[in-house]
Amino acid sequence: MTEPSLIARPLADIRRAILSGETSLEALVSSYLDVIESTRHLNAFVHVFAEDAIQQARLLDQKIVDGYIPGRLLGAIVSVKDNICIQGKPVSAASHILADYTSPFHATPIERILAEDAILIGTTNCDEFGMGSSSTNSRYGPVRNGADDTKIAGGSSGGAAVSVQTGTCNLALGTDTGGSIRQPAAFCHVPGFKPGYGSVSRHGMIAYASSFDQMGIISRDVAAMKLCFDILKGPDEFDSTVSKNAPTDQGTKDNFSICYIPEMFPKGNPYTDHCLESIRSLDALFAMGQSDFAWLRYLIPCYYILTTAEASSNLSRYDGVRYGFRAPGVSSLEEMYVKTRTKGFGHEVKKRIMLGTFVLSEGYFDAYYTKAQKVRRLIAESVDKILEEYDFIALPVVAGEPWNLEYTPQDALEIYLSDIYTVLANLSGHPAMAIPCEHNGQKTSIQLIARKHRESDLFAAAEKIQAALAK
Ligand code: GLN
Repeated sequence: MTEPSLIARPLADIRRAILSGETSLEALVSSYLDVIESTRHLNAFVHVFAEDAIQQARLLDQKIVDGYIPGRLLGAIVSVKDNICIQGKPVSAASHILADYTSPFHATPIERILAEDAILIGTTNCDEFGMGSSSTNSRYGPVRNGADDTKIAGGSSGGAAVSVQTGTCNLALGTDTGGSIRQPAAFCHVPGFKPGYGSVSRHGMIAYASSFDQMGIISRDVAAMKLCFDILKGPDEFDSTVSKNAPTDQGTKDNFSICYIPEMFPKGNPYTDHCLESIRSLDALFAMGQSDFAWLRYLIPCYYILTTAEASSNLSRYDGVRYGFRAPGVSSLEEMYVKTRTKGFGHEVKKRIMLGTFVLSEGYFDAYYTKAQKVRRLIAESVDKILEEYDFIALPVVAGEPWNLEYTPQDALEIYLSDIYTVLANLSGHPAMAIPCEHNGQKTSIQLIARKHRESDLFAAAEKIQAALAK
């Protein structure tokens, strides 16, 4: 077997190679930049920080020669989704309404990884404001899947998933409101991790639906993902929703148990059938059980009522006054609001603002919003109840392969329905992960949902699964 090139090796190896002088950080960054150039046609990146990254690498190389003890993320070359703020860099959430907007500050997660000597390589393309499942709703055009460029990469963190899939970086930061890390990770066959709600600060992440949004990580290297999460997690003075008793690494056990819900694997769907077979084949590693779940058909309505409501409120700040784009040639304040928002937002975002405004309007509020909040609580309680007995719930991430870029659904709900397996963990606030595997020569991804504050169990289980069902 030939040694994989350095950029494809685990972070721990890369770090060793840098510290032993086998390679320099500058050479490493240049190799990643070369891959970015050769995969430009996939449209995964919005901005590439070639000069900054090389300059920072040189600086660190020199400091190491001078005896500096580097941070824990030395050798981590990170792509950042275009809805996470980096000081002095443009950030637009792939929306025209944030055209020419430059962030005056770092998001807390960016602050934390930079303090550990990670290098930022660029920002990645996504669906506008994270709204979508295909990374085709972007002002920068669609992201293409690196395995087949006629197919979607998934969304909304499609650029992040492709950036890892094609080896342009070794860690990608994305965001997940209803599956936007796990779904594209599954479509690109790489691991994708969403922390539990309140584990990682959302300060500096452009909000979509604040009680659902979480920043997370895509990486082939689960150990690096764990290390990065350990650095990201924990209280932040700028985000009061971060849990004070945020996950500590409590160590993990060997004898995990998994529960699956038969109803989540519809009979006759070869993709989910195979996913279930893959899960069952893990019975030598995990104790297995089954459970009922009464809420499956309520997941999508509940998710889309609540997220559109929160989005309509969050996106009201884009009015042409404070950020980014302002429609020219207007003669009144109201005309400015209307024209700015009409021209600035894309079709999908406008649709969701209208739906969210509707469910929050007087007369409908109790029938939709309040009802959905109650259902959300019942869903979360059901998940907790299953997890009292088992360590994980195992389910598919997606119900099939990525679709063609040109595909336009007859019915807009079809795409919303494709989120059925991923929205659960956001409705309930539990940590979850998409884990790629191969069973009987066929690739799939398994999703695990873990107990609250037990992110560390997910990393341990993912490593076991990857060893057993090699990618
Ligand atoms: N596809 C889902 C949506 O459009 C999830 C998006 C996300 O997680 N940001 O809302």
